[in-house]
Amino acid sequence: MSGTVIVGASLAGLRTAEALRKNGYEERVTLLGMEDHLPYDRPPLSKGILTGTVSESDTFFRTADHFTELGVEVKTGVRATALDTTDRAIHTSDGTLQYDNVVIATGAAARTLPGTDSLSGVHVIRTLEDATAIRSDLSNRPRVVVIGAGFIGAEVASSAREMDLDVTIVEALPNPLARAVGTEVGRLCADLHAEGGTTLLCGNGVAEVTGNSTVEGVTLTNGVTIPADVVIVGIGVTVNTGWLEDSGLDISNGVVCDEYMSAGPTGVFAVGDVAAWHNPLFGVTMRVEHWTNAVEQALIVAYNITNPTEQRPYAGIPYFWSDQYGRRIQFLGRSDADEVVIVDRTRESRKPVALYRKDDALGGALAIDDPMTLMPLRAHIMKEGGWEAALAAVQPDS
Ligand SMILES: Cc1cc2nc3c(=O)[nH]c(=O)nc-3n(C[C@H](O)[C@H](O)[C@H](O)COP(=O)(O)OP(=O)(O)OC[C@H]3O[C@@H](n4cnc5c(N)ncnc54)[C@H](O)[C@@H]3O)c2cc1C
Repeated sequence: MSGTVIVGASLAGLRTAEALRKNGYEERVTLLGMEDHLPYDRPPLSKGILTGTVSESDTFFRTADHFTELGVEVKTGVRATALDTTDRAIHTSDGTLQYDNVVIATGAAARTLPGTDSLSGVHVIRTLEDATAIRSDLSNRPRVVVIGAGFIGAEVASSAREMDLDVTIVEALPNPLARAVGTEVGRLCADLHAEGGTTLLCGNGVAEVTGNSTVEGVTLTNGVTIPADVVIVGIGVTVNTGWLEDSGLDISNGVVCDEYMSAGPTGVFAVGDVAAWHNPLFGVTMRVEHWTNAVEQALIVAYNITNPTEQRPYAGIPYFWSDQYGRRIQFLGRSDADEVVIVDRTRESRKPVALYRKDDALGGALAIDDPMTLMPLRAHIMKEGGWEAALAAVQPDS
């Protein structure tokens, strides 16, 4: 038996390997990743790693001994280059591996800004190396410009402000996070930047990042140039599916899977940021780039590998958190909505809760610093009549 090969040695891959063993899977398990590290956690990269409150070693999930005890062979520094689903083979930079099951957990890479490759001081943030390079630059007390006001950009800005640096965020859209949480809630997030002392410039794209060998500034499409010693580009990701181009899999939006996280051919599954799957709870195909989703999908895939005659669908409610300026934003569900209602439960605008209506159900909910209100709302998501129940649940106490 060739066993299960998991391609991508990060959160989703690690949790799949562990869940396989927990479920009593006795065949060979190989965890293969192109980074030189054992699996490590990415959320601290834009937070404590930058400010120095978390050390690099704190980010590693497990030790090498853990994998030995688990009977999982970890191959670091090995890149998968092609998948042959007919011969059930994975071609890699270190030879070919046969598989009975392959779990694609190759995640995503940070999108870069064209024309900035040769400029020192310009960074993206996805890997431990990215984060330590940024931390090193921040220690010189630079003027920081963050391009993109998404969650990662916002967290980097917040971390730089925690270090009392001069920080500007530039965002092409009129409001931050409009696509992720909607315009109204995006404005609430803009307020967090203002309170935290970050200058947020919305509604202008980047025309050019200037400098000779080292970055000197960011010129916007309105002609204004913002001086910068360090630029962090947070403009989203591209999924790591290049190695699957000749595999015959549908890679039109990551690896497209059915509700069982199967990518089609027998024994081919995908998990985590790279996987788009049909979520029966919402009746749509979605791809989610958040931590909890990777963990939950790993459990489902491990279950479906160990119980091939009794497959379980993944009908998870997407969830994420983001830490900015000492506040915690949490989101459940989906943000595409027929209506968004923001309720200030404490009547002082410090703990707003936003509800996203989808027909007569609750599609999603967001809270700032209020997990006690948010988490019970899970019960109303995509339930008939869930909207009214959720509205009643978040009304301020009289
Ligand atoms: C800076 C940062 C902060 C974040 N903060 C939060 C947060 O606060 N809250 C939250 O919910 N989520 C957060 N996330 C998202 C969360 O970390 C991701 O959802 C999670 O890492 C996804 O795990 P994954 O295993 O699917 O993919 P990844 O973590 O992207 O791992 C994929 C792995 O596969 C490897 N790989 C790729 N191609 C190949 C190949 N061809 N061969 C071999 N290996 C390959 C990659 O090198 C990588 O190690 C954050 C992400 C980042 C980058």
